[in-house]
Amino acid sequence: MRFCEIDGQDEIKRKLIQTVSDQRVSHAQLFFGPEGCCKLSLAIAYAQYINCTNKQGITDSCGTCPSCLKYQKLAHPDLHFIYPVATTKRVPKKPQSKHFIENWRKFLLESNYQASLQEWYGAIELENKQGIINADDCNEIITTLSYKSYESDYKVMILWMVEKLYYSAAPKILKILEEPPEKTLFLLISEDPDQIIKTILSRTLLVKIPGSPLFQSGRTEEDTIHFESFRQWMRACYGAKIVDLISFTSEISRFGREKQKGFLTYGLKVIGFCASVNFRNNLPAGIEGEELKFIRDFSPFIKIENLHEFNDLFNSAIFHVERNAHAPTLFLDLSLKIVRLFKPNFVPLS
Ligand SMILES: [Zn+2]
Repeated sequence: MRFCEIDGQDEIKRKLIQTVSDQRVSHAQLFFGPEGCCKLSLAIAYAQYINCTNKQGITDSCGTCPSCLKYQKLAHPDLHFIYPVATTKRVPKKPQSKHFIENWRKFLLESNYQASLQEWYGAIELENKQGIINADDCNEIITTLSYKSYESDYKVMILWMVEKLYYSAAPKILKILEEPPEKTLFLLISEDPDQIIKTILSRTLLVKIPGSPLFQSGRTEEDTIHFESFRQWMRACYGAKIVDLISFTSEISRFGREKQKGFLTYGLKVIGFCASVNFRNNLPAGIEGEELKFIRDFSPFIKIENLHEFNDLFNSAIFHVERNAHAPTLFLDLSLKIVRLFKPNFVPLS
């Protein structure tokens, strides 16, 4: 799959390509968006581009080098897929993704990668059962990634519909997701990030495919409460006002963990909204008044170059809040990192 075979999504393609030219490919990324938004095709095109040995300038993979030819058939030895499965007549016990790989290739190629979960279940004749990503497949991920790549630069592990990862199997892959072997790329695909186990979610860089829930809605009552504090915090960061940042830090440290997470999640949404203004020139419905004004004013500061860093910072902070990090240290450190995104030469004490 080459980028040029996917309709539209130019901004996302450009951002993905940029990560390669900047040599900043995050090792675990979650592509999410509603059914039909090309998230799986984009992930495969991205992986093919990364491993193409004859990249077409900075725009696309070549489609003809040995790596691309194998990718086009979904048969590259360093490209691995994990997807929900269950027992079937043909695989009556201990089902794993590898038992269905021929079905998977045929299914994707015939549907032009526009795969829906129900169609997949139909393709492997699950009848009325629901598939899951099971513990055996989690072990398989670890085994597969413990070998060196056969021929390409990156080993790629694509987990399709990661919201179907079985709850008790998930801990098996937390460590490898966080600290994968070198040159390993996890691409997780999801239609509903709200259903993903939080410890998995927090270990990935979110790649919102336009039309995705965070861009279009995802607003909660709580967001209205967070708005004013967030605006003041960003103003203090932008102005590098250390005294204000310290008082912000002590104030937010008094909140409970859930409220701190809600605040940071709101921050992630604002960054998504700003990206939406910048790259798609639109905003979700329901944002108005002072908040709308703030997002319009703030969006020029969220650029292609720092969007991933903003996302990373907030995701990582959520991850650490969940693990009971010392809140004053965490929020002060986060604030100073944001100051540096605004002012790269900033030195806190002079
Ligand atoms: Zn190529």
